[in-house]
Amino acid sequence: MCIFCDIIEGKIPSAKVYEDDQCLAILDISQVTRGHTLVMPKQHFANILECDEQTLAHLIEVVRDLAGKIVKNLDARGCNILVNTNEAAGQSVMHLHFHIIPRYGNDEGLNIEFDPHHEPYDLAEIVRDINKDR
Ligand code: 5GP
Ligand code: ZN
Repeated sequence: MCIFCDIIEGKIPSAKVYEDDQCLAILDISQVTRGHTLVMPKQHFANILECDEQTLAHLIEVVRDLAGKIVKNLDARGCNILVNTNEAAGQSVMHLHFHIIPRYGNDEGLNIEFDPHHEPYDLAEIVRDINKDR
């Protein structure tokens, strides 16, 4: 059972922002900021790592277009585009979705801060690790 598949199938109501044959965009039920939107493929993929190339290419195009429209028409000053992947990264619904979160410059709803690791990492070692064959 997947709550987003139920929304896509119309079993659960949602505030639809955009729809085509491959994807659906709805307002997030918890509006972090006004216009917080979720864009998801109609086919169930657990996360971005599982998604095929064609679907993902289409999704990201829809995300870009919608983000532009949301920023412009809601008079936002920018937006965050987020894809949480797996529980460790805050994913709570295991059906791939992009968050579009418009930013107005005074939002209390979202606070993204980078807090760099204090011990210096060996960057060359990290690059080697990322690219190793396993
Ligand atoms: P995640 O934490 O997985 O990246 O984000 C899941 C998002 O889905 C949350 O922001 C949550 O508010 C939203 N959400 C969960 N259930 C529903 C629902 O039934 N309807 C809508 N529109 N959004 C939902
Ligand atoms: Zn699903």
